[in-house]
Amino acid sequence: MEALLAAGFVETLFHCPACGTAGTSFSRPASLLDRRCLDCGEPVVTTVLDRFARPEAG
Ligand SMILES: [Zn+2]
Repeated sequence: MEALLAAGFVETLFHCPACGTAGTSFSRPASLLDRRCLDCGEPVVTTVLDRFARPEAG
């Protein structure tokens, strides 16, 4: 897992509004814009999990 993160991957939570499939996966940030549901092929909503987000300054 750490190797994936070091390679630039982030853990994401995805949810498909069309069929309700949800889960987590590792993705490159650049590929998040074109994620599609494995079940129905519709675009999915992805969220980068907070534990990998940078803490806000201040
Ligand atoms: Zn779907």
